[in-house]
Amino acid sequence: MDSFGLDIWSDNNFHITGNLLSVNYKSTPSLLNIVNKIRSNGTKGPMLLRFPHLIKKQIQNLYLNFDKAIQENNYKGSFNAVFPLKVNQYPQVVKAIIEQGGNHNYGLEAGSKAELVLAMSQTDSKMPITVNGFKDKEMIMLGFIAAQSGHCITLTIEGLNELNTILEVIKETSLSVPNIGIRVRLHSAGSGSWSKSAGMDAKFGLTSTEIIEAIKLLKNNDAIKYFTMIHFHIGSQMTDIAPLKKALREAGNIYAELKNMGADNLQSINIGGGLAVEYSQSSATKTHNYSVEEFASSVVFLLGEIMNVKCVQHPDIFTESGRYIVASHAVLITPVLELFSQDYQEKLLKLKNINPPLIEELIDLNKLLTSKNAIEYMHDALDHIESLLTLFDLGYIDLQDRSNAEILVHNIVKKAILLSELHTVTELQELQSRIQERYLINASIFQSLPDFWGINQHFPIVPLSNLDKIPSRASSLWDITCDSDGEIGFDAKNPLFLHDVDLKNEEYFLGFFNVGAYQETLGMNHNLFTHPNEYTINIDENSYQIKNSIESKSLLNILNSIGYDEVLINNKLKKKLSTSNFITKKEKNDTLAKLEIFLKQNGYLRTTN
Ligand SMILES: *Cc1c(COP(=O)(O)O)cnc(C)c1O
Repeated sequence: MDSFGLDIWSDNNFHITGNLLSVNYKSTPSLLNIVNKIRSNGTKGPMLLRFPHLIKKQIQNLYLNFDKAIQENNYKGSFNAVFPLKVNQYPQVVKAIIEQGGNHNYGLEAGSKAELVLAMSQTDSKMPITVNGFKDKEMIMLGFIAAQSGHCITLTIEGLNELNTILEVIKETSLSVPNIGIRVRLHSAGSGSWSKSAGMDAKFGLTSTEIIEAIKLLKNNDAIKYFTMIHFHIGSQMTDIAPLKKALREAGNIYAELKNMGADNLQSINIGGGLAVEYSQSSATKTHNYSVEEFASSVVFLLGEIMNVKCVQHPDIFTESGRYIVASHAVLITPVLELFSQDYQEKLLKLKNINPPLIEELIDLNKLLTSKNAIEYMHDALDHIESLLTLFDLGYIDLQDRSNAEILVHNIVKKAILLSELHTVTELQELQSRIQERYLINASIFQSLPDFWGINQHFPIVPLSNLDKIPSRASSLWDITCDSDGEIGFDAKNPLFLHDVDLKNEEYFLGFFNVGAYQETLGMNHNLFTHPNEYTINIDENSYQIKNSIESKSLLNILNSIGYDEVLINNKLKKKLSTSNFITKKEKNDTLAKLEIFLKQNGYLRTTN
């Protein structure tokens, strides 16, 4: 039986009970039960489930591990964290973060004007706000407005121009001045797909020369007292901890130097985000090699050591991990609409009274296949199909023979793979991609898994049911967009096997996991598919509640959102239909009513599944 790599990626958040996948928390409901409850009122299509308890778990883990490291290393600074809004700005996510982070004073990080306004509106005055990214004078002014409103806000400058603008605003107004942070451009670069955030050619941060210039500017303008933080971020999804350690040594020494240069109020190092999430379903392709415990203890130990050597007080530590906090909380669930290889089912064989000799041999191979002879028989079958296809090209066998041969070989290969249980042998992997099944999913990859499309990011995929059976079909997934990129192909290195299901008799749902970070606002409305229905699931000791259901946009709303006048469209369609010729008045009214309903529904498929 296959456990779909749960032990690798799921961090015990989900487990298999019987034939179902369940949430491993309190009353441990199965995902299928939750899905069926949501669909009991006629809801169809894909859905995004949010589990706030998983956000809570990650926040607690982060603080727990840093608190432990601080105690063990006798570290004198405090630990603080902010959530970078760009990772997920959706209301239910931010709400859970504020609720669960409240007792830790967990704050928010903003990288744009809209995110800054969001941060100001969602936090109370004790929670820290940090602001990164490029800023114009208006955005800096917004920072002053936040400080004036009582927020504990730090504007991190990305260049000297931003500092000059801050100094300008200080002169022009008498508003409270926000704390000033400096993003340092590190010589050491990160690892992973997003490592462009650091290094000498990085997009962000001040070089050492610019830092010295900044300190001079701050001092000359009597503003050095506002300078409280240095910041760096070496990139997302760090695969290895070594580059972080290098960056910490570099930033730690910059910090100590600045303290010694008279930056008296400087008291924090913000180490950015980058804590990785495991997306792999097989141990061979695991993406990172450290735990959050190792991460925390490395950061605390190294900073303490550097400061002790330089006789500088231990700084307060800030982190901005986002992916680590929210990736696990969201699960995308899609119904499977269709399987595209029903045509190879054994029952479709139409054998003749007299078949060509090679086909007779295939019939025998298929019948006599056992675990002992599986590989040998499969090789024979593959030889035969090559010959049979040549015979067809030369006109010696007919289309019915060819169809029979394909069905037989398909089944022989499938059975051989199943019987020999040698998923890892290269030859078998290649064969699997030849006999793969295509599962059509009611979802858009562009909308819901954009990082798969953009950077080939794999997300764990697990069926919600049938988990007591061996998944025997090498699978690729097609989404319902009219775009050939809307496909998750079979990958022999990270193979996905799904179940043989008859969709006429049972529903089959796939869960896509760890989709809570970056996917939602990165998602595209390609083909005008929009964010799917979402639900927040609060699980307690006895049961669970489905809260905050937010429906996917209706067809008219989608068109409205890209600039069409929905009233005009509505009227136009109805007018055309009502002025056409109907045989009966009843049919006319029924059709008009149907149109009305269709326009109010979302764009995902409904009648099939
Ligand atoms: C994107 C970003 C983060 C979050 O990174 P994760 O890998 O999601 O933890 C943190 N800080 C800054 C400055 C960022 O740009």
